[in-house]
Amino acid sequence: MKHVRPFLLLVFATLAGLALFVSRSDANPETIKRIAPGVYFREGDMEQGHCNNVIVEMKDYLIVVDANFPSGARAAMADAKRISPKPVKYVFDTHHHGDHLYGNSLWTQAGATTLAFKGVAEELKRFEPARWEEAAKSRKDVAELNQPGPEPPKQDINELQYVLNDGSRKVEFRHFGWAHTKGDGFVYLPKEQVLCTGDAVVNGPYNNTADANVANWPSVLQAAGKLKVKFVLPGHGVDAGPELISGQAQFMTELHKAVKAGVEQGKKLEELQASIHLPETVKNWVSERSLKTQIKDAFDQIQAPRQ
Ligand SMILES: [Zn+2]
Repeated sequence: MKHVRPFLLLVFATLAGLALFVSRSDANPETIKRIAPGVYFREGDMEQGHCNNVIVEMKDYLIVVDANFPSGARAAMADAKRISPKPVKYVFDTHHHGDHLYGNSLWTQAGATTLAFKGVAEELKRFEPARWEEAAKSRKDVAELNQPGPEPPKQDINELQYVLNDGSRKVEFRHFGWAHTKGDGFVYLPKEQVLCTGDAVVNGPYNNTADANVANWPSVLQAAGKLKVKFVLPGHGVDAGPELISGQAQFMTELHKAVKAGVEQGKKLEELQASIHLPETVKNWVSERSLKTQIKDAFDQIQAPRQ
């Protein structure tokens, strides 16, 4: 049977190669999907807490959207190498959350420049290193970096827009205001009509509203929705079309509306958590557990509005 083994190895190698490139629309964690020439969507494994990544190929280098957790960063780095021999020059942190940014130092050690809108550095100052220390208790990949806290982005973007254009492709980094977090950044490829949203848009019941501005969220998405978009690459969940932006905006509108009406009627938080049901049209974003937390966050934000 000895002669069979090389053949089997070849089959496995081929299958492994195929597994890297998928085109199914359902969940396929830790795989790469080609969205447009030189634009790749990497779906993160939620069980490992990973966010999604986007890899954009330029003439001489790669841009990666989101640093991910350290273990996700290593996995995305390996996939980037498989896609192209070009170095990763920029890693854009869409926001300050650990699953999008705690891998920063691994990317900079590998020679990349991390960058984000200035609100990201501001929020890191507010929340860190407390969250890092908390994450290190349960996440080996964070603990074993032996850092006092997350590495902030090396480059802050102080304008509402920053553009990279090397002649082969134009990449726009855009800030439309406070939605999921104060420093929310989008990455837009105008020619390919691709919009990478970070967690300002997610596909499924994955909305974390703790650091959000729920009241302002729909306005941010309305601004983003004015861009010409064919492909939406969310921070969590599978890729979709532009309807994902309007659906997510509708979810936030309904959440805010329902909680605000309850507050105006003098209802207590517990009453609202027990009674609020959002319309069928936004059920893609609803799970019983996450909705209770989102109602609490919206409730708190209505008592003390964020701006
Ligand atoms: Zn987030």
